[in-house]
Amino acid sequence: MRQKIVAGNWKMNKNYEDGLTLAKDVIEGLTVDHCTVVLGTPFIHLKAVSEIVKNVENVYSSAQNCSSEPEGAYTGEVSAEMIKSSGADYIIIGHSEWRAYFNEADEVLAKKIDLTLQNNLIPILCCGETLEERETEQHFTTVKRQINNALFHLSEDQLKNIVIAYEPVWAIGTGKTATPEQAQEMHQHIRSLISDRFGDGIADDLSILYGGSCKPSNATELFSQKDLDGGLIGGASLNASDFIEIIANLKDY
Ligand code: PEP
Repeated sequence: MRQKIVAGNWKMNKNYEDGLTLAKDVIEGLTVDHCTVVLGTPFIHLKAVSEIVKNVENVYSSAQNCSSEPEGAYTGEVSAEMIKSSGADYIIIGHSEWRAYFNEADEVLAKKIDLTLQNNLIPILCCGETLEERETEQHFTTVKRQINNALFHLSEDQLKNIVIAYEPVWAIGTGKTATPEQAQEMHQHIRSLISDRFGDGIADDLSILYGGSCKPSNATELFSQKDLDGGLIGGASLNASDFIEIIANLKDY
């Protein structure tokens, strides 16, 4: 069964206290029996937020990145195993900010995906084209390359534990959202890539989230598309009532 998911990505926002307040506010306002909710926090919040969500049904915590190495002399890095030990269940992998600012290559992402799965965590793999790639009609090719390089080495069983987030770079934090048609078209493309490599059953069960300036006012239309299974929410996840409203919008689809 395909799972509906709304994941927040706090990025590098909220000090420790404000982050815990946000997590508590989200939980207090939520009535979630229709989808999974994931809180993607900075590392310093992760253990405390994991404790907060531990006994709340359908709510989980997530890191926003992990090291591509399992352990060792990598000053400042955090391993997938450490993330698991904090109580988290998900890791966001390959966010466009990491690809752009830290030159994260597809091959590195494949290693991060492997470590995430080895530690029984669920990767939310981000993919998406730049504005230039869309304007030159390279968007399908770009996303195909990203999916292929990060995921196609996996087994069918491993792929069952993957979530994909389509996030057009030109829509992230810009206030510019993909139209529901543009999002649907790309989600269908992603599902067909997975189907060609892993079969229809696995592709049908795969949750594909949309991310990019998703907010309460546009979530309903986006979520109504048949291949959109929820959202990865940046800016709007920093405000508990906006985030809760976005989650509520997924209810009818
Ligand atoms: C994101 O950073 O994953 C994101 C989707 O950001 P925003 O919602 O702010 O565009």
